[in-house]
Order: sequence, then structure tokens, then C-alpha cells
Amino acid sequence: MSKKYKAIQVTKPGKLEIVEKAITEPASGQVRIRVEACGVCHSDSGTVEGLFPISWPRVPGHEVVGRIDALGSGVQGWAVGQRVGVGFLGGSCGYCEFCRNGDLVNCRNQEFSGIHSDGGYAEMMIAKASGLMSIPDSFSSAAAAPLLCAGLTTFNALRNAPAKAGDLVAVLGIGGLGHLGVQYARHMGFEVAAIARGTRTAELAKKLGAHHYIDSAATDPAAALQALGGAKVILITASGGKTIAATFKGLRPGGVSIDVGVGPEPIEITSQDLIFGERKVAGSLTGNPATGDATLRFSALTGVSAMIETVPLQEAPAAYAKMMAGKARFRMVLVMNNGGSEGASRQS
Ligand SMILES: [Zn+2]
Ligand SMILES: [Zn+2]
Repeated sequence: MSKKYKAIQVTKPGKLEIVEKAITEPASGQVRIRVEACGVCHSDSGTVEGLFPISWPRVPGHEVVGRIDALGSGVQGWAVGQRVGVGFLGGSCGYCEFCRNGDLVNCRNQEFSGIHSDGGYAEMMIAKASGLMSIPDSFSSAAAAPLLCAGLTTFNALRNAPAKAGDLVAVLGIGGLGHLGVQYARHMGFEVAAIARGTRTAELAKKLGAHHYIDSAATDPAAALQALGGAKVILITASGGKTIAATFKGLRPGGVSIDVGVGPEPIEITSQDLIFGERKVAGSLTGNPATGDATLRFSALTGVSAMIETVPLQEAPAAYAKMMAGKARFRMVLVMNNGGSEGASRQS
């Protein structure tokens, strides 16, 4: 095997370049992964635009599927050759207060893949074993990749939400996250309302499983939700505080607006709208690795899949630009030229 591998790295904010890097050995508790596919996620902008403090150069990518190529010392439960996934959360430490209390997501020593350490825009990657997820055989690597962040994020938020079967659940934004959120909500047994701007996505939203489509450009989405009886949960997949505020009054008493779309805008909600109706607003951060496994199993069982467009690794800068321009329908996935990704040029 060659001692080098190709990677797309960021050398300074906005600058992506292809490089060859030397293959290194996994340290204790880590595995080395021969990457087969990596999704392009909006959170990659945290690396590419330098929104986090980054030690340059850095390889982005946190929707990574590949096969374990080498095990570091002390790694148990994983085997060389096994196909695994890596998401945004790089792996818990196991010893901090939150880990010891079973809250792996909020581990104090959690590193973010592609931000604190090199991610999956590469043919090889080193990952912490504690963050790994298992990939069912029924998924190609390219098909599984977006489920590790976009899928896990929406699945986890809905799965932990207070809605019960038959309750009205709204999904705001039909993009990379929202098109999965609608499918999960439908298969979890909720009455599903999809909210987006314009009429263009109405048909698709229904095809994905939405019972109702609300065009937020033509109608007040909060009033439309109240006309349906009020939502128990609104899953906000679009970034921006205004979208949360605009739909908040569509919650029924005791309902919760769960934000998974990151943006800099403040959320302007009046205390009256919070108190009268005892509504809540909450954030949700991806999920733990076992929930990642559950996301993939549930997706395989129910036929939930991401609509993807695959491109070769070297086209990562163009794929990233397309995603940032909001032109991806709906997830761009980088595939490596190593025969493992089984990626057709386009799948949906
Ligand atoms: Zn992501
Ligand atoms: Zn910890």
C-alpha cells in the first residue's frame, strides 16, 4: 500500500486544496479508516470558513464511512475490515462528569470531527473508537454517509421529542436535514406538516411523507399550524432565529420548538408566547453513537434515505460551493476512488 493518501485540506479560511499526506498509525484508543464516502454538510463551513478556532491546515468532513484499516492499542469491540461511520462528535472521553453520567453527547472532552482533528474529505482518516457507528450492509457507503450527521441529528431530535404517535409534528425547512426529518417523522407515526418557502417543494414534501404542506411565503405558518390543531413539536432545520419566532405560536400548549439549524440570529420570542401555553424552545446536538446505529437501522427498516449527488473526492471544493449556495438536492457526497463506495454517479 502507498504510504501516502490524498486529502482535501483547508489552509486558511475559504481555501480548499488537494494534497498528499503521509499515512500515520492510530494512537491508543483510535482506529485508522480507509474512507469510502464522506457527506458534505453545512457545518463543514465551521472549518472551511474558520468559524471555529482551527489549527491549519485542517481536513473537513464529518459524515464519514469507511473500513477500519488499523487498530490502535486498547481498542476493543471493533475489527480491521469492519465498515464504520464517523459523525460530527469525534468520540467521548469516558471519564468526565457527563460521560460518567451517561451523557456522551455533552462530553467535556468531545472533539469535533474535521474541526479539532482531520475529517473525511480524504482517502484515510484517524478516528477515536468511542465515536464510531456501525453501518448496515444494506446501505452503500455513499448512501449511509449523510445519515451520520443530517440523519442522526433529525432522528435523534424527533426520537427524544415529547410527541406521541398521531401528534402533529412540523418540520421547518426541506433541505439536507429537513428532507430526512419529514421521512423520519412520518415513519415514527406522527401527523406531519412540512413548512418551506414557496410552492416548489410542496410535491416533494408530500412524496417524502408529509400529510400537509405549508408555504411560509404565502401564509402565516403559525396560524396554519393552529388551524391543524397546533403542533406538539416543530423541528427547525433551517438556520435563523426568525424562522423559530415565525412558527413558535403554531405550537399547542406544552409544545416544543427544537432547533437543529445553526445560525447567528437571535431567537426573538415573547415571554407571553412562552408562558401562555407553556411552550418551550430547545436545542439538540446530533446524538450519541448508539443513536447513530439506531438511525441507520431505522432507516434500513423503513426505507428512509437521503437524496444524494455523488462526486469524486477531488471535486470537493465545487461540491462544497454548491452546498453553500443552497443548490445541493439534497446532500453532496464525496466518494473515494478505492472501489468501496459503490456510488452511482447520481442516486435518489
Ligand atoms: Zn453535519
Ligand atoms: Zn467525557
